Amino acid sequence: MTAGHPRRALQLVQNPERLHWHDQAVWFVRQKRDIARSFVPEWEELRSLASQIKAHALSRLPDYLEQFESRAKAAGAVVHWARDADEHNRIVLSLLRERGVTRLVKSKSMLTEECKLNEHLEAHGIEVVDTDLGERIVQFRREPPSHIVMPAIHLKKEEIGALFHDELGTPEGLSDPKALAEAARVHMREKFLAAQAGLTGVNFAIASTGGVVVCTNEGNADLGTSLPPLHIACMGVEKIVPSPRELAVFLRLLARSATGQPITTYTSHFHGPKPGGEMHIVIVDHGRSRILARPEFRASLKCIRCAACMNTCPVYRRSGGHSYGVTVPGPIGSVLARQRDLPPMPRKSFRAQWRDRGRAR
Ligand code: SF4
Repeated sequence: MTAGHPRRALQLVQNPERLHWHDQAVWFVRQKRDIARSFVPEWEELRSLASQIKAHALSRLPDYLEQFESRAKAAGAVVHWARDADEHNRIVLSLLRERGVTRLVKSKSMLTEECKLNEHLEAHGIEVVDTDLGERIVQFRREPPSHIVMPAIHLKKEEIGALFHDELGTPEGLSDPKALAEAARVHMREKFLAAQAGLTGVNFAIASTGGVVVCTNEGNADLGTSLPPLHIACMGVEKIVPSPRELAVFLRLLARSATGQPITTYTSHFHGPKPGGEMHIVIVDHGRSRILARPEFRASLKCIRCAACMNTCPVYRRSGGHSYGVTVPGPIGSVLARQRDLPPMPRKSFRAQWRDRGRAR
């Protein structure tokens, strides 16, 4: 738990009706996950296999990252290395500035939340539009996501209706989810058509092919990368899987664990830029090598951000994501947040390898 959590939790705890509603909404998703997993007899074997694959990939991370870089370059992508959030933000900003981009569409990326990219770009005059519906809702409210898969799970449909009335001019009192989604779709289409660049996160990066995989349910990553000429994909170093064979294991686990779906509606594979376009991949450390260097915390890098631990956790369900005060809330977020209290790394750290690598370029 992070400092100040009990105080921030009061907002939900002091409102029993809302607390119960949030608890039930999140628990409902956890139950969907249980049903989905019941249809996969080899579920526990899959989880164990996924854990072993991640452990293996983490044990050879520099090799796999190097292989990924060379294959991605061979496919026509440009690869950048960022030591931390500042460097990541600088790289993205300079890519946009060099091409005169002032309008960017973004699909969901917890890494860019972690790096506070939106704030950085907006401070430099770039319009950033989050195109995942839940992300767009919290962006309108100028608040962070409260959940890593369902960013606006803390809001009721009536509150979203009032927000859309203010922001999009929908009729007052409209709260039908289908009608609200349609209004958002119309709004977003305009943004997609006007965008000069699209930025995505990365769910998995395949070392043997140099491709990246982005999972969404709304197809927003696909529109955001197929309309504008420039695609920037931002990934943490831990997103590496050795080959497409291992990818299959994670794709079977991710959507079932996250929302109870057999697979996400869109599982998009990007291998290099589209014809006439540009693709840039930014590989980000931002403290991950520090975690990797500490055996007691290393397993936290296996996380595929499915959010099942949040949906399960009674503390998360009854205190809400914003009460944690960090980018990734809930059980895994509490482990990741602890990294901030660790002593500094020894001099020649894993992180320094990325720095040396960057200097050599
Ligand atoms: S730690 Fe939580 S979010 Fe990460 S993979 Fe496990 S259940 Fe999913």
